[in-house]
Amino acid sequence: MIIIVIKEDCPRANYIIEILFKVILKVDYRICYSTQLKKLLFEFPLASVVLYLPEEETFEVEHIRVPFHPWMNSEVLIVPQNIQAKNDFFEEDIFMKCFIKLTEIENYSSINLDSHHRYEEDNSEDLVPLLHQLAYDLYDLCKKHNYILPDIKVSNSLTYSLDVDRPFVFKGLPLYLNLFGVFKDVFTLNFNRLTQRYKYLLSKIDPYDEAWDKIIKHAQITNIFFLMDSAPQVDGYYPLKSNLSYDKLIQKVSANPNKNIGIHPSYNSFLNPTKIIAEKELLEQLIQKKVTISRMHFLKYKLPDTFKFLILAGMECDFTSVYYSKIGFKHGIAYPFNWFNCKENKVTDLIINPSIAMDRTFLSYLKLSPEETISKINDLKLTLLKYGGCLDILIHNGIMSDFEEWKGWSKIVE
Ligand SMILES: [Zn+2]
Repeated sequence: MIIIVIKEDCPRANYIIEILFKVILKVDYRICYSTQLKKLLFEFPLASVVLYLPEEETFEVEHIRVPFHPWMNSEVLIVPQNIQAKNDFFEEDIFMKCFIKLTEIENYSSINLDSHHRYEEDNSEDLVPLLHQLAYDLYDLCKKHNYILPDIKVSNSLTYSLDVDRPFVFKGLPLYLNLFGVFKDVFTLNFNRLTQRYKYLLSKIDPYDEAWDKIIKHAQITNIFFLMDSAPQVDGYYPLKSNLSYDKLIQKVSANPNKNIGIHPSYNSFLNPTKIIAEKELLEQLIQKKVTISRMHFLKYKLPDTFKFLILAGMECDFTSVYYSKIGFKHGIAYPFNWFNCKENKVTDLIINPSIAMDRTFLSYLKLSPEETISKINDLKLTLLKYGGCLDILIHNGIMSDFEEWKGWSKIVE
């Protein structure tokens, strides 16, 4: 048993301590105020004591002290300067460091946005889950302090979550667009596409059809997010609304009991709750089931608004947590966790399910080959063998087709 002593009720500390000890380490712990410590020690004489208190409070019992920064007990959104420069376990507030990483609190006031209005990502490596690392370090220290603690139960799993931005290459397009496409293919000398388009026009077999069979059969692809509206400037002119082929596909996937169907709120919806709700309801009507999972298209969100809107739309679990320009542990964790609304300084019921990499990142941002990508994924697997966690990779349906830009890529999905 581990006892963590805090001065007074502190939502940020309560939250991060629960994440470290319950979600990551899965060990028994109690949080108490300093006045309650004696009583708890009487109940658990072999407990390991972690103090998370201002300097002046000291105790006779053997303990580990995590330096406490008063910012944690405030509602201030701006992170004090230089806090991340220190890197010594005993010199900095590691709970604060974990809280900042997990909640992205710095982005609440960030004005550095990319062309899609996403928070800019730096190019530093983030290949070790920070919260796991610090939780394990702290746990090892607790063990060294004489107390008998059980070994940590490490869980590992590999899953793929899939976004559907464009369900088919040709199927579902109006005939005039496919005929116009023939000229475009010739004009751009895209003979592979021209051949496939002819094949489609003659036989109605789309290059993505076979990919869909594979996706439906694949046991590790369980969460599938469907885009219900497209923005012409970013998604081309593929019609998603009132598209019979698309509707049939969604219904077919949804009929498989092993697939969870989620909404992929469209490019312009991230600040528009009415739009998120309308798209979700359209999907619900199609599949005749409640939709409670989501991932924002283009991974676009604004803190805290988008997540508040997702909660308003009835979402219980969101998958938007993943870097777009690099791979790694965006929130320092590889387990699902409750979203903390820093503006309201409270934990919410919305579960955030992090993914550790995205297929398009390997292809377009890192410009890796499928072989190099497999090697990177294997490295991530090894990291999680050490630290535990769930390795989820964001993929798109196109990758399973090996068509055009995805030629040779389906093999990265085991
Ligand atoms: Zn998307």
